[in-house]
Amino acid sequence: MSGVKGWCPGALRPMESGDGWVVRIKPHGAKLSRTQATGIADAAQTYGNGLIDLTGRGNLQLRGVTPDSHTPLIADLRALDLVDPDIATETRRNIIVTPFGDGTTDGLVHDLEAALANSTLTLPAKFGFAVDTGPAPVLTDDPADIRIERLGDTLVLRADGMMFASAFHAPEDAIALAGWFLAKGGASGGRGRMAALIAKGVRPVADIAAPAPARAATPGAVADGFLAGFEFGQIPPDTLRRLGRLGPLRLTPWRMLLVQGAGCLPAMDGLILTADDPRLRLRACTGAPGCTQAHAATRSVAHGLAPFVPDGAVLHVSGCAKGCGWPRKADITLTATPQGFDLIRHGCAHDAPVLRGLHSDQLPKVL
Ligand code: SF4
Repeated sequence: MSGVKGWCPGALRPMESGDGWVVRIKPHGAKLSRTQATGIADAAQTYGNGLIDLTGRGNLQLRGVTPDSHTPLIADLRALDLVDPDIATETRRNIIVTPFGDGTTDGLVHDLEAALANSTLTLPAKFGFAVDTGPAPVLTDDPADIRIERLGDTLVLRADGMMFASAFHAPEDAIALAGWFLAKGGASGGRGRMAALIAKGVRPVADIAAPAPARAATPGAVADGFLAGFEFGQIPPDTLRRLGRLGPLRLTPWRMLLVQGAGCLPAMDGLILTADDPRLRLRACTGAPGCTQAHAATRSVAHGLAPFVPDGAVLHVSGCAKGCGWPRKADITLTATPQGFDLIRHGCAHDAPVLRGLHSDQLPKVL
């Protein structure tokens, strides 16, 4: 096994980075038991550098893994039921899940995972599914190509980018829609997304108005437990252990975990417990030294700028124009370049800047 540069990492196929291999864990059903949470925290410290990232797809990444530590890491993760049988299954199993579902949601995710494992579709690496079957959709703005949503007492299937959906009967319907995407030429060279195909005017049959999404979730008490946020999605191992002892954990794509059954949470290292915490408005990729492509550190810069970010605005600090930490528009984006930071307003990390080559000392004044 060797790490692959620039590839979407998995557990079985890690990605090389500036601080060693990145190993991405995709917990089944986007949930963790106490045993799994403890096992991941232990594994991060035993086989990696102790860093655990909660990603924008609700996965967990361990960093600093080495060629020697990878094999025993996978053995431990396999014993915790956190690894797929092979790379093809792992690559295809991209599913984000509402944390506000019920037992039927868990069963549906399980069946969708099985249907994906049994399918022979060769989907683009970033192609994914959203099982968003809580009382109202909450994953509408999160990355997925095929969405299963609740409309009253029924479920509907929606291609990302469409305002209309079709009736959903079984996971095979979602697999069939993925097959339709491939048949219509949605993928090329291992890339391609549903919304891009829809934007070209290629549409599947759909005649049911899609359900209205719920308001964005924020840290705090919710009906099922307590939502806890993490600055840049980074979870200290001991915090993960302690949270796992408080209840089953649901992973979200919002850099938040739902601790099921918890009415409140004590303060812990790295935890964000209130919706008005300014750290929630910061986005930053790994940056230097963890990423070899970075032109500067990002998270320390973003953290230091938190008091200067205008109310309600989102600040994204990116180590290069790729923009991994927030691949969408932000109110203010600072993109590191060899000449300093470029400042972009209402755009992405690769968009045209309004100011170029800023020294970090200048940043508080120009936000
Ligand atoms: S955006 Fe950040 S993490 Fe992504 S390649 Fe650039 S420096 Fe690395």
